[in-house]
Amino acid sequence: MKIKSAEFIKGIIGTDGILKEDIPQVAFVGRSNVGKSSVINSLVNRKDLVKSSSTPGKTQQINFFLIQTDLGELFFVDLPGYGFAKLSRERREKLRKLILWYVEDSEAKPQKIILVIDAKVGPTPFDVEMFGVLKKHNYEIIVVANKVDKLKRNDRQKQLKKIKEELWCDNVILHSAKTKEGREELLLELFK
Ligand code: GDP
Repeated sequence: MKIKSAEFIKGIIGTDGILKEDIPQVAFVGRSNVGKSSVINSLVNRKDLVKSSSTPGKTQQINFFLIQTDLGELFFVDLPGYGFAKLSRERREKLRKLILWYVEDSEAKPQKIILVIDAKVGPTPFDVEMFGVLKKHNYEIIVVANKVDKLKRNDRQKQLKKIKEELWCDNVILHSAKTKEGREELLLELFK
């Protein structure tokens, strides 16, 4: 599978025609700082297509990227990061509502949702809550346990088992945006 190009199309904060376009959507969701932007940038082999959610003044929108591959095209949909401690409570609540709107109420019908968590930390209560919401709506969920490079080799399988048990989910990929471990496995899952 080859990525031919990746470009930013637009950011939305509410209903928009792009949600109903005929191009399949793969949405990315995760706690702020978990490495969600790095995962997307790694997948498309670009350094800064997606800006980190901790970038000052980063627009808190739902961003659409058009990804052209040899197997067809896709939208990567980057949802705002949740739980960012540096934001006011009010702002955090607004972002939470925007994420929930996309997955629960909007016209979007994402083909898959990638929930990015921290491999070392494991699922936090926020992650468990988000997973529950996605599950309730019968989405196909791929959990990406990112920053696996921070775990010792010997601990990885044990931690993978633990994450699977805590989330009651079998589809978990150990991944590192830093070393690119798990990148191929994730790409294959995306286009399955
Ligand atoms: P976002 O807020 O979820 O979009 O997170 P970023 O992609 O901005 O990453 C947050 C921080 O984690 C940055 O300092 C990244 O360099 C770092 N990071 C992201 N992915 C990895 C990874 O796989 N391994 C390690 N060690 N650090 C990572």
